[in-house]
Amino acid sequence: MKKISIAVLAGDGIGPEVMDSALQVLERVGHRIHRQFVARHYPAGAQNYLDTGESLPESTLAACRAADAILFGAMGLPHVRGKDGTEIIPQLDIRFALDLYAGVRPVRTWPGLPVPLSDPRATEIDLVLIRENTEGLFYARGRGIVEADVAYDTQKISRLGTTRIVDFALNLARERAQKGRPGKVTNVDKANVFASMAFWRQIFEDRAKQFPDIRTESAYVDAMALNLVLKPWQFDVLVTENMFGDILSDLIASLVGGMGMAPSGDIGDHHGLFQPAHGTAPDIAGQGVANPTAMILSAAMMLDWLAVRQDDAELAVGAKAIEQAVQSAFASQAVRPREFGGASGTADITRAVLERL
Ligand code: ATP
Repeated sequence: MKKISIAVLAGDGIGPEVMDSALQVLERVGHRIHRQFVARHYPAGAQNYLDTGESLPESTLAACRAADAILFGAMGLPHVRGKDGTEIIPQLDIRFALDLYAGVRPVRTWPGLPVPLSDPRATEIDLVLIRENTEGLFYARGRGIVEADVAYDTQKISRLGTTRIVDFALNLARERAQKGRPGKVTNVDKANVFASMAFWRQIFEDRAKQFPDIRTESAYVDAMALNLVLKPWQFDVLVTENMFGDILSDLIASLVGGMGMAPSGDIGDHHGLFQPAHGTAPDIAGQGVANPTAMILSAAMMLDWLAVRQDDAELAVGAKAIEQAVQSAFASQAVRPREFGGASGTADITRAVLERL
């Protein structure tokens, strides 16, 4: 049986709880498509920092480089801080170390689960936010300058970094158009205020000319925050800078009912890491109540990515099977996560998905 190696970084808080669910789902789907997922756990995270002084050991990074794909739970604990007072966030370090430049955050609604917006068109929400992961304002992390009475963080927007993320979004819109989506990319920036963002927009508009089959438009981030709440069903693919992407990805997760439903991938030219969009949720950790769906759907995204990378259509079949199992579990009302007012815990949701696989 073909083996696929997965580096597993379960992390802190609810990370290990939702990871356990996703690994059970992968094992089950592996039987179905005759693939063996060899999952090995590696240390990283805030607790590891407390225990050993390292949040992302070099040996863990080496294992991530060597694996076919990386599954990541969640990392960071509010009380664990580095010397400059910022949180321990290895997920940012790993994005930079492996050049995982494209943060891919899809959200969609699920039949059977309530949708927070009351407009009936809200059930049609199906969009993907592409967040630039390696520069933007986050480039300032660790480089900030604090003087006596003033502090500076500087944003970086490069031609290479912008071109590759914009191309990623345009290509994704093209792929989605083949599956019936509108084939549209909305660029989100603040080109009316910042020189760096005007530079970004110019690159977006230049690249868009190479994709005449894709409809493109640009919007300012403030207007976008408004329109994502007023009419999110109008959007297909969004592309934006790192900081704006950080904020808007939480906003779009809320449109479909909560962080527990939002998967994500951090993808580069050589490596792919897949993790739920949520954090470690210390308020509910250890209680068995976390919704594992975002983690399970992240595993499905991983299979889709591997299917293309390894030219292995069975892996795409596995991804589809996971999505359908999740869909059926919610549509049949067999389970309802607590975020949606239900009583189903992590084990209940995992079991409902496994039964349908
Ligand atoms: P980060 O800064 O790492 O993104 P955060 O502290 O901003 O993390 P989360 O850890 O994602 O935020 O938690 C935000 C809220 O969402 C919390 O109330 C948490 O309990 C809830 N939450 C997050 N993930 C889940 C989940 N999988 N299931 C249920 N509730 C969740």
